[in-house]
Amino acid sequence: MTRKVFNFSPGPALIPEPVLRQAAEEMLDWQGTGMSVMEVSHRGKDFMALHARAIADLRELLSIPPNYKVLFMQGGALAENSIVPLNLMGEAGQADYLLTGQWSLKSAREAARYGQINIVADAAGSDGSDTADAKGVYTHIPAQSVWKLSREAAYLHLCTSETIEGVEFQSDPVVGGGEHEVSPDVPIVADMSSHILSRVIDVSRYGCIYGGAQKNIGPAGLTFVIVREDLIGRAHRLCPSAFNYQVVADNDSMFNTPPTFGIYLAGLVFEWLKAQGGVAAIEAVNINKASLLYEAIDGSGLYQNWVSKHCRSRMNVTFFLHDERLNEAFLADAREAGLMNLKGHRVVGGMRASIYNAMPIEGVRALVAFMRDFEQRRG
Ligand SMILES: *Cc1c(COP(=O)(O)O)cnc(C)c1O
Repeated sequence: MTRKVFNFSPGPALIPEPVLRQAAEEMLDWQGTGMSVMEVSHRGKDFMALHARAIADLRELLSIPPNYKVLFMQGGALAENSIVPLNLMGEAGQADYLLTGQWSLKSAREAARYGQINIVADAAGSDGSDTADAKGVYTHIPAQSVWKLSREAAYLHLCTSETIEGVEFQSDPVVGGGEHEVSPDVPIVADMSSHILSRVIDVSRYGCIYGGAQKNIGPAGLTFVIVREDLIGRAHRLCPSAFNYQVVADNDSMFNTPPTFGIYLAGLVFEWLKAQGGVAAIEAVNINKASLLYEAIDGSGLYQNWVSKHCRSRMNVTFFLHDERLNEAFLADAREAGLMNLKGHRVVGGMRASIYNAMPIEGVRALVAFMRDFEQRRG
């Protein structure tokens, strides 16, 4: 059995084919135990070894410094929107939030239940120069020089990859404490759900990195948190124990039963990524994939992308047909050609091709060829 389609789903998303094959082969008999990995105790020797290896591989792939803990949690990125303020807002009772799209907007709204939220900049409509911004759609990241940072904030929250709009940070924020720099005393918290492991990042610029696994790592149900040790231990007294970074860290992510199958599959994805040459190697492939697609969009008379060029996402490529009446035909013909799940998010409309690490370049080539053909026939 082999795949018959290319799946551009934004998440839950594509998982590397060799990983699914290995999981299928081991489903009934994991490592000669005669049992599925789903059926064994998370505290057993074999599973504990798998868990430790998955964490070690993630640390290696992202060069995570020793003073950071890797936690495997549950609840997804949206639960972290509460878990982060409950753990990190502390005595300050306030935090800074940068708004660059739907996901950071959701994060800020949820955090407002726990304290004072300062919006450092809101990208919606703020540059006012093009139609997309005029419609209140997020299409750029405000320059760090215009962020209104507050020194009293417990942390600064960002979403470095806005999955819905296709807006992505192309470099880590500057930390230093100069006029336009984030103070080293205000840790940066980043939702990296949709681009974790897709590009090289400097973990030491961040106090906490989190996300759901179902975009670029594995199945839904697993949440990753990478948190600097000195930020652990400040949780609000009402923070549930299962969501308290201190409790989770002290119990090696096994305070309660972790999502064992998700951790197993994530571990296989980490091994697969190491075999591809690691994050720098996959980043080079991701650059090629995204360039192919953006060149096709920019060079056409039918398709357009609204995102400012310096913040276009490599993972989630959004585009719109000049004639929106062709949307349904485009999607139907794409499905016919085996190109699945290209419909944009309902808030933004249009199309979105999510081309995470697991999407081979052949998938992007097939999409580009289809788009050219469709434009010739219908454009
Ligand atoms: C998908 C996504 C979320 C939502 O994650 P859940 O796991 O559904 O809670 C949040 N933030 C970003 C950037 C996402 O891509």
